[in-house]
Amino acid sequence: MNPRQPTRQVTIGDDRVGFIRIGGGLPDASGAPTDLAPVAVQTMTAGYTHDVARCVAEINKLAAAGADVVRVAVPQKKDTDALKEIIPQVSVPIVADVHFHYKRALEAVEAGVHKIRLNPGNIADRAQVNEVIDACKERNLPIRVGVNEGSIIERKDKQIRKTELGKFFDQHKQGHLLALMIAKLEEYLDIFAERDFHDVVISAKSMDAAFCVDVYSEISRRFDYPLHLGVTHAGTRETGAIRSIAALSALLCSGVGDTLRISYASDPVYEVEDGLELLYSLSLRERVGIDLIACPTCGRIQVDLFTLVQDVRKKLAEIEIPMKVAVMGCVVNGPGEAEGADVAVFAGDRRGIIYVQGERVANVSEAEILDRLHAECVKLQESVRAGDAKLGEKVVEIIPPDPIGELGSGFEKIATGRVESRSELTVGKS
Ligand code: SF4
Repeated sequence: MNPRQPTRQVTIGDDRVGFIRIGGGLPDASGAPTDLAPVAVQTMTAGYTHDVARCVAEINKLAAAGADVVRVAVPQKKDTDALKEIIPQVSVPIVADVHFHYKRALEAVEAGVHKIRLNPGNIADRAQVNEVIDACKERNLPIRVGVNEGSIIERKDKQIRKTELGKFFDQHKQGHLLALMIAKLEEYLDIFAERDFHDVVISAKSMDAAFCVDVYSEISRRFDYPLHLGVTHAGTRETGAIRSIAALSALLCSGVGDTLRISYASDPVYEVEDGLELLYSLSLRERVGIDLIACPTCGRIQVDLFTLVQDVRKKLAEIEIPMKVAVMGCVVNGPGEAEGADVAVFAGDRRGIIYVQGERVANVSEAEILDRLHAECVKLQESVRAGDAKLGEKVVEIIPPDPIGELGSGFEKIATGRVESRSELTVGKS
């Protein structure tokens, strides 16, 4: 992991919903140093903003899932009118996503929104942009300048443009698009600089993960504003997750990115869950709740592990501390793989042996594993909160029991010829 690139810092929010800081590391306008803020997770509502009750319910659901900031679309005046009723009922900063009509931005500012997103591809009139900048400046509201590959219009002279602009990035298969996005951003940001407005976040999304990596890397070299990462129109959770994570993790590992949205064509709660998991996995955010380790299963499996892991995930959702929990399908490789867990269960012959902070606490039947594991996790959480235990200190470090002896695991397989020899049991790979 490279260290995070320092940027200017932007703050979104108010006294009621709280403040979310984006980026940092460079001095603020008064010259005072700023700390790097944790990478923030954003998402966008999927329903109509003018349907006030549904919009409020959706925003609150996304906030409960862990969204730091929620964006809403405001294509019509009735949407910006609705913001006046929505904002007092929610507990996270709200961003108005504005396209085509600069007046929607002015109305959203009036309604009390916390940030505006403008698209240089469809609000380009300098006088109109200046009006929005002035309205935001008066209320200390940041603006995200979000350029999208989709809003770069290919012209009749595409081939000439490709040759002319492509030469600036001749190593890149879409060099001319890269040049156009950066030129558009530079041109747009000049309007902001002329107004001495620097409360800016930049994004430059594409549906091509490799292109996203290149364009964001280039932008981070050229501008010192914080970056909002995203792969746009990534697809469903099944297809979009890999596309998004491929681009975002490459950028985050290189130190680029201050806030992100993973976009799926499905419930935006998944965008929040997966965005947070990405940041937890890269140690860019402090985990809230359990860190679940589970074996992928193999021919040594001793219980219905797929069902058990899903049930464990759901049942332990109430645990709020970053407890490492391991669910392992057998005792052969399980102990080694679960090393470092605070709580672990190893399956054997339709049973589960449960360890808490290195101590063996139970040996229960398959049907009892879930409830006992849950009870042990709740108990450990209470002990940690009372100061009687500390996470990660006394972890599972076990000499595995004889797989054929105590638990009986493996015996049948050897007997039926599914495992050739004892050595295969003990050196099997996951
Ligand atoms: S050997 Fe590893 S993958 Fe196979 S069941 Fe045991 S713990 Fe799971």
